[in-house]
Amino acid sequence: MDYTSKIASHVAGIPRSGIRDFFELVQGREGVISLGVGEPDFVTPWHIREAAIYSLEKGQTTYTSNLGLLSLRKAIAKYVASFFEVEYEASKEVLVTVGVSEAIDIALRALLNPGDEVIYHEPCYVSYSPSIVMAYGKAVAVETSKEDGFSLKPEKLAAAITPRSRVLMLNFPTNPTGAVASNEDLEGIAKLCIEHDLIVLTDEIYSELRYDGVKHVSIASLPGMKERTILLHGFSKAFAMTGFRLGYACAPQPIIEAMMKIHQYSMLCAPIMSQNAALEALENGTPSMIAMRDSYHQRRDFLVKRLNEFGLSCHTPGGAFYVFPDIRTTGKSSKDFAMGLLSAENVAAVPGSAFGPSGEGFLRCCYATGFDDLKLAMDKMERFVGTL
Ligand code: PLP
Repeated sequence: MDYTSKIASHVAGIPRSGIRDFFELVQGREGVISLGVGEPDFVTPWHIREAAIYSLEKGQTTYTSNLGLLSLRKAIAKYVASFFEVEYEASKEVLVTVGVSEAIDIALRALLNPGDEVIYHEPCYVSYSPSIVMAYGKAVAVETSKEDGFSLKPEKLAAAITPRSRVLMLNFPTNPTGAVASNEDLEGIAKLCIEHDLIVLTDEIYSELRYDGVKHVSIASLPGMKERTILLHGFSKAFAMTGFRLGYACAPQPIIEAMMKIHQYSMLCAPIMSQNAALEALENGTPSMIAMRDSYHQRRDFLVKRLNEFGLSCHTPGGAFYVFPDIRTTGKSSKDFAMGLLSAENVAAVPGSAFGPSGEGFLRCCYATGFDDLKLAMDKMERFVGTL
């Protein structure tokens, strides 16, 4: 059968993820040191795993409320009030989702009419543009630059706004650059969103992973912003819980209600054992989260120093667990550089172009990898750069 005519055209038009292509190559090789996958190298802290086991032991194998366990939503509201300094009502302004991934998807589907424009800053997480397209929106990328620390400058945002602009997607700290936005930039962005009546979808999944003692600030906490912001967060990164597939959205009740409609008919609810594990993470997981963050901090400092020493200029990212060195001096495209590094030294890092055209000339190295491997990877990368 010819399946080309069977696949919806807006889905057929979505390109495959550049990361996936690259990792298909990596999978076929032995002994690769991977700085590729954006996932903690830590196993989920034991007390959190135990909470999931205990949930099963107690025979908790059922559906939960569509919104998620009320006990978990209450814990989320408490955590968000203290960490992000924004108050939400657990009973109607919090929705537990299957990862931030689901939350992004249903938020966009709940907000967009066909052809509505969604602005996002790029380089960015690979799912943003496809998620917008799958929700029949028009993806409008605003390029950020190394010179601006990959933050979104209000003047660049202003230039991208049109009468069809409906949503602004933000992600600070950013995957793949580790960028954070200054308070001044956030205030400028907020002002524009109010002026142009934009809804903000802010993915703050890396918000606990801020370094140098700097406190994370959410755009939702700025004056006038809570009412127009959907705050997305989850457990995958800071609590090393990627496999639990748990995230959440906090937003004004009518928006949560609209997202809930899609969630209840497509997902029904997040798995109950993951919800119980997440509750344990919120109630008792902060010390282990801080220990992991401190370890990432050391690794970030090591990587930035080494990369700059051997000539790959690298800004110091304020958060997440990625560095984004500039490889333009080598004269290679980011794909050629990554392929060359893999074949010569068996080190995998993702070409910056996988995160949008403005990622070209850069490489994403994830430092959620053990220190020994990081040291070896840097020695190998130095040797590779020396051959170019
Ligand atoms: N948002 C960003 C910016 C990410 O980097 C990732 C995963 O890499 C996700 C969302 C997906 O998160 P989750 O595991 O909660 O679906």
